[in-house]
Amino acid sequence: MLKIPLPTSPLERRFALIAATLAVVLLALSAWLFSYQWAAYANADRALADLRVFHSILLAMEKVSVERGPSNAALGDASPPPPARERALREARAESDRRIADLLSQLEAPACRDCLDERDAVLRARADLVRARAFIDGLLDQPRGARTGEALHRAVAGMIQVVPHFTAIADVSAAKVDRGAPGALSRLLAARLAALLREQAGLLGSQLTPALGTGRPLTDAEQFAIERTLGTIAQLRALLQPRVLNDQALPRGAFQLVEMQYFRVGLDYFSRVRALASLPGDAGVSTAEFARHYVPLMGSITNFRDEVLELVQQQVGARRDVRLAWLGGIVAILSVVVACLFLGVWLFRRQVVQPFAEAASAIRAIAAGDLAAPLSPRPYRGEIGELFDAVQVLQGNSIERARLENERRHLIAKLSKMAETDALTGLLNRGAFDRRLKDACSGAGRRADGRLLSLTIFDIDHFKRINDRYGHASGDRALRRVATLSREVWREEDIVARIGGEEFAVLACVPAGSDAVDMAQRLRERLSATMLVADSGERFSLRASFGTAFAVPGKTRDADGLMRRADLLLYQAKQGGRDRIVAETASQEPAVG
Ligand code: GH3
Ligand code: MG
Ligand code: MG
Repeated sequence: MLKIPLPTSPLERRFALIAATLAVVLLALSAWLFSYQWAAYANADRALADLRVFHSILLAMEKVSVERGPSNAALGDASPPPPARERALREARAESDRRIADLLSQLEAPACRDCLDERDAVLRARADLVRARAFIDGLLDQPRGARTGEALHRAVAGMIQVVPHFTAIADVSAAKVDRGAPGALSRLLAARLAALLREQAGLLGSQLTPALGTGRPLTDAEQFAIERTLGTIAQLRALLQPRVLNDQALPRGAFQLVEMQYFRVGLDYFSRVRALASLPGDAGVSTAEFARHYVPLMGSITNFRDEVLELVQQQVGARRDVRLAWLGGIVAILSVVVACLFLGVWLFRRQVVQPFAEAASAIRAIAAGDLAAPLSPRPYRGEIGELFDAVQVLQGNSIERARLENERRHLIAKLSKMAETDALTGLLNRGAFDRRLKDACSGAGRRADGRLLSLTIFDIDHFKRINDRYGHASGDRALRRVATLSREVWREEDIVARIGGEEFAVLACVPAGSDAVDMAQRLRERLSATMLVADSGERFSLRASFGTAFAVPGKTRDADGLMRRADLLLYQAKQGGRDRIVAETASQEPAVG
């Protein structure tokens, strides 16, 4: 699984914010595009469903028209009508009922948009149809001679008035289809005109029924009604012809059949029967015979209508398929784009942002002197790899520089220690002692705790003779022993130095001048008590002369002067016979020097 760690550095947080904004914008855009395409697809799909409803309306309307044929035929027969005629009527009624039930089930389906008005219209049509049939059945029970022309008229009119319920909702349904499939309306109107033509053609046939059924000539009113229907039929023809001419897609062949079969043969036949029915007496053509000839010729009209509807269905179906393809394409493209964005962001974060933040924190750590911070073990390529190589080199260089710096500090410390140390004895040398003396004198004098600064210089007596007698190496050993004894006699905080060949100096802070003299005395005694062994195996001891001077509070800030005074006191000790201490008293200073 893709594990997304939380952003830790400010850079990563900024990047996460930008990536999140980008993702939100892209997702919003994708959602909008998807919903737009989905709505277009849903509209096209709904248009297909609406088209089915439209088709069902036209079919129901047609079947109700068709039912008029056997009805009219039966009305012209004796009572009871012949079984074949009765069966034909039953079948026609069953077909009408089936189509109406089918239409109702479509209109009552939850998917049907705003179909309540249409459903009510169909229910009204069905109720009218039931009433019209009941009236017809009443007439059929009567002997043929008892059926009046007026009653037959009413029977025919009852069937005819069912149809307008369907024509009204057909217009509403066509408009709905056009909403989801713009451009379909003009062809739907052609189908609707064809349906109307079929209806008017049927109506025209029905208008002969009372005369043919009762064996009397057509009345003036019937002639007038026939003329009106023929006028309507001519109008419908005039409306259909230019449509078929202008719209290349409409089925011309089917329309030519309508022209030939209905407008020529059908209407010719109608005119002939009408002419017979206009003469006094029986026309000699039964309603059944008329229906047998006339009704099949109307089939070309319904064929034309069905071909037009088939065309629209293909058109709307193709439109829906295109929308579906677009929807699928958009979903695929959006999925790829979104996946690419997420992968790109993830890779960019992993390959650039995170390493960059790591490198930045590594450089910060190096700058802060933290050279132990480990670098990422992930092997990076390209510029990021080079960046990490550079950081590694920087870290290596910094480690090396820190090591050299450390070494230099040690060396400097060692050198400065060496520069201040006497190589033979390990005591401070002359230069270092002079600096300590100067420092001490710059703050010299009786301190707040009442202590004095004392300077004692001592020189080994007749050391030349020791060298001469026991050898230089023995002399060196003797000097080292003097240094050891001095360090033992004086305290740790006192400064002991070898300031000449066999000459030493001690700087000490003492509560009283006698303390300094006591310490010199202790060394003098230990020197004489310490037996040294020469290379020759001979044993000897050392003697030394001491001069001790003091720095008096508020008077001596001059280190050279103090040194000179101590030197002079040493000289006096030598002059006085050696192996002794000459010290000035703190209060009389600088009386001696
Ligand atoms: P005095 O009592 O007057 O000081 O007599 P002295 O012989 O000690 O003094 P002098 O100045 O005549 O001689 C000092 C001698 O110390 C001379 C020199 O050989 C010796 N000396 C100086 N430095 C060293 C050293 O580092 N090692 C050895 N072994 N001898 C040294
Ligand atoms: Mg000496
Ligand atoms: Mg000397």
